[in-house]
Amino acid sequence: MGLARTWSVALVGVEGHLVQVEAHAASGLPAFILVGLPDTSLSEARERVRAAVTSSAVPWNARRRTVNLSPASLPKAGSAFDLAIAVACMGADGLPAAEHAGRVVHLGELGLDGRVHPVRGVLPAVAAAVAAGRPDVVVPAANLAEARLVPGARVRAVHHLAELARDYGADVTPPVAVAGVPRGVQARPAPPDLADVIGQGDARFALEVAAAGGHHLLMVGPPGAGKSMLAARLPGVLPDLDDADALEVTAIHSVAGTFDPGGGLLRRPPFEDPHHTATAQAIVGGGSGVPRPGAASRAHRGVLLLDEAPEFARRVLDSLRQPLEHGEIVVHRARGAARYPARFQLVLAANPCPCGKASGKGLDCTCTPLERRRYLARLSGPLLDRVDLQIDVPAVTRASAALGSLGEGSEAVAARVAAARAAQRERLAGTPWRTNAEVPGSWLRSSEHGPGPAPRAVLERALDSGTLSLRGMDRVLKIGWTIADLTGRERPDLDEIGAAMSLRIRGGTHA
Ligand SMILES: [Zn+2]
Repeated sequence: MGLARTWSVALVGVEGHLVQVEAHAASGLPAFILVGLPDTSLSEARERVRAAVTSSAVPWNARRRTVNLSPASLPKAGSAFDLAIAVACMGADGLPAAEHAGRVVHLGELGLDGRVHPVRGVLPAVAAAVAAGRPDVVVPAANLAEARLVPGARVRAVHHLAELARDYGADVTPPVAVAGVPRGVQARPAPPDLADVIGQGDARFALEVAAAGGHHLLMVGPPGAGKSMLAARLPGVLPDLDDADALEVTAIHSVAGTFDPGGGLLRRPPFEDPHHTATAQAIVGGGSGVPRPGAASRAHRGVLLLDEAPEFARRVLDSLRQPLEHGEIVVHRARGAARYPARFQLVLAANPCPCGKASGKGLDCTCTPLERRRYLARLSGPLLDRVDLQIDVPAVTRASAALGSLGEGSEAVAARVAAARAAQRERLAGTPWRTNAEVPGSWLRSSEHGPGPAPRAVLERALDSGTLSLRGMDRVLKIGWTIADLTGRERPDLDEIGAAMSLRIRGGTHA
């Protein structure tokens, strides 16, 4: 009879939780029982572990084996427990140095031939192990670079289970290491530059204001006006992520399997632009095994672009309300809820009507008035209510394309954005908010933080005449503050409030 213990990590959302893996082997009818709420993929672990152990030339005697994963209350999914189960089983069968495994955290999926395959979520798993006081971790060789990004981790990488068996005292010769299985990740391309955008001075200014204050942005204009081109350049003018954000964003992309660890932690704000045929699950996340974060979560601390926004399914647009309100997505599973951070900057791009030609005088538009009205109405009130900046992006005429000089590059814009963000940090120190977009209206309207008498009079007139709603006024104030931060003013005055009101005008009306 033998008993052995080791450790692994269960992922709940993008958080790791330490799991103890305990194996017991006794004489009796041969059996292999897994307890501790395993899901289907975990049950399949039995077959993989048995085959991998025998492939490693370690004897698998006919005994009654019980493996317990605890705490039982934690939801466990995926194949990353294979390695720990195999180590515990070999330990219970009497490996000489098995007690050493009781201090080590093991992560990895096993092939039937004993090879150790990479798994998703190694970064948050190793971080959780270190935080729980278990810094010794064994990971698949293909995950080594990722595991090493965690400060304080002592990482051993293995290609084959036999390497571990030998570490723990088995008399086996591991096969010569073969290259790890490549993962489907993209290298990080350089972000596109604003210098490529010709003309569109107003839209460029709106983009700079959006970046400076963290405001969501709606751009309405005909196809070819450059809306998506502008949106793709927003991450390039946003500041780098700080350490905490970089770790959180990288953990999300580690669980999503969309992370190339070669370049270290993700330091630049991510950019996600799901196609308008995307399902709600593709946006909010989910799936079998370890659930994958969706596009809204992969855009955390970065930019989520919905190009041709009215074409997205109603369910998909509605699914964005939770992250816009709470900055996270809660995916409910059979055994509890998983949380995915999802605090992104939303950019909506839309044609003015189904045929796309209703901008300017709109003489070529073939849509009926009803079709035109319904089209943008698909972006529901609750969604648009959260979008501070709503602008028209006109078509670039041939004359302006020919005469328009090349625009300012992203570097110069990013420098002004960084200065504006620093001004907000200083002003908002001690509050829960980082950017003007997050500040509630009551704070902005208060006597202490509100505008001076002259802009206040202008806003009150607009409110009285009905050109501005109370909500609209709050957004004008937020944008006014951001413009003041960009221009180095102490607080917004008439100029800044006037500019903010013009950025709120879309189709000639204030909302
Ligand atoms: Zn039309």
